[in-house]
Amino acid sequence: MEWNALLQAYPADQAGIYKAMALRESIDRHMAGMELPVLDEQWQESGAIADILPQLALLLGRVWQDTTGQEPGFDMHAMLENAIIKGQAPRVEGMDAEALQVLVNHAFARLLSLLREKNANLIPAAWTQGKCPFCGTYPRLAFETQSGRTLCCPLCGHNWPFVRVRCTVCDNTDHSTLGYFEAEGLPDKRVYFCRVCNHYLKVIDARNRQVHDAETEDALSLELDDLAHKEGFSEAPQ
Ligand SMILES: [Zn+2]
Ligand SMILES: [Zn+2]
Repeated sequence: MEWNALLQAYPADQAGIYKAMALRESIDRHMAGMELPVLDEQWQESGAIADILPQLALLLGRVWQDTTGQEPGFDMHAMLENAIIKGQAPRVEGMDAEALQVLVNHAFARLLSLLREKNANLIPAAWTQGKCPFCGTYPRLAFETQSGRTLCCPLCGHNWPFVRVRCTVCDNTDHSTLGYFEAEGLPDKRVYFCRVCNHYLKVIDARNRQVHDAETEDALSLELDDLAHKEGFSEAPQ
C-alpha cells in the first residue's frame, strides 16, 4: 500500500489511515519470521490454514500488544477461526471493530502472500481462468497494459494475464452483454461489467500514466465501486 497516495486522496480520513498503517506495519513485522508449511495441491481442502492459525494467533496477540499497549483480552485464535475459517465478521465485544477488521484482513492476505511465495511451484504456468490459480479468489481489479490485461488477486497478490472480452466470473464472451463505463474525470479507470452474472471488475489503464500497486489503486477507486453498485452490479464473489 502506498500510504502517501491514500493520505492525499482521503485527507478527512487521516487518523484512520495512520492507524491502519501502524497496525499493518506491526503485522508485517511480526509475521516476517513465520514458519510456513510446504503445501500440496489439496491444501485448501485439507485444513492447512486451520493448522497455521495457532501460530498466527500468537503473533497477532503480539501485534495487538504492540499497537494498543494491552494484552488482547480476548481469544485471538477463536476470533481468527470465526473470521477466516467460518467467514464471519471479526467482532469481539468491547473491541475496536475497525481495528479487528484490518487485523484479520491484512494478516490473512499477508499469510496467503507468504504461502504463495513459498509454494510458487503449485501455480500452473498456463492459466486461463478468472480466479486466482493459487488461492481461488476472484480479482476486484486489473491493469490494462500494452501487452494486454493483467488480473490481480486481492488476497495472495498473484498476477496473471487474461483476455479482454470475457467475464472473469461466468466466462461470458458475448459482446452484447459485456460492457464498461467510467466516472467523470477519471478517464483511465473503468468498470467492466457483465450483464449475464451482474459482476464487475475495475480496470486501471497503465498505458499512459505511472500506476500504483493494485491494492493502492483499488483503495483509490472506491468511487467506481459506488457507481457499479448503483448500476446494480456486484463485486466478484469471495
Ligand atoms: Zn490469490
Ligand atoms: Zn459474468
